Amino acid sequence: MIQETLAIIKPDGVARGLIGEVIRRIESHGLKVKAMKMVHLSKKEAEGFYAVHRERPFFGSLTSFMSEGPVVLMILSGENAIQAWRDLMGATDPAKSAPGTIRREFGLSIERNTTHGSDAPETAAFETSYFFSGMEACN
Ligand code: ADP
Ligand code: MG
Repeated sequence: MIQETLAIIKPDGVARGLIGEVIRRIESHGLKVKAMKMVHLSKKEAEGFYAVHRERPFFGSLTSFMSEGPVVLMILSGENAIQAWRDLMGATDPAKSAPGTIRREFGLSIERNTTHGSDAPETAAFETSYFFSGMEACN
């Protein structure tokens, strides 16, 4: 099934010059970039994006991190794109993610883990429309 998912290169990845490396991995695994932009989120914009995590103890720290510098936002498309992109990223905690995954190779901590990916079709729909209008996605 062809799906779309939201990918983010988080501030730690952009700051360390990993934009090209992350996109290279995405494209070489057959996922297509359908939309892309670089933005510096405000704290409020980061809070809106991570609203599902509002009650978590790390919410304040996470949203400060996500608004500390620019991020790259992308809509990815492909066969089972949601799981395919999560497999490329690896587990949330870099120390527990599989060798060869982006988070294992580049993640600095469970919070500063370099990339984001949607976790289900419903969250992918919310997350892609949170950042992109229909006009910004290419076919
Ligand atoms: P994932 O990004 O793998 O879907 P979650 O949705 O559980 O993980 O968490 C969202 C983000 O919050 C993570 O990518 C990470 O940046 C941060 N995070 C998750 N758990 C923790 C934690 N225990 N401490 C600090 N930050 C965390
Ligand atoms: Mg998540």
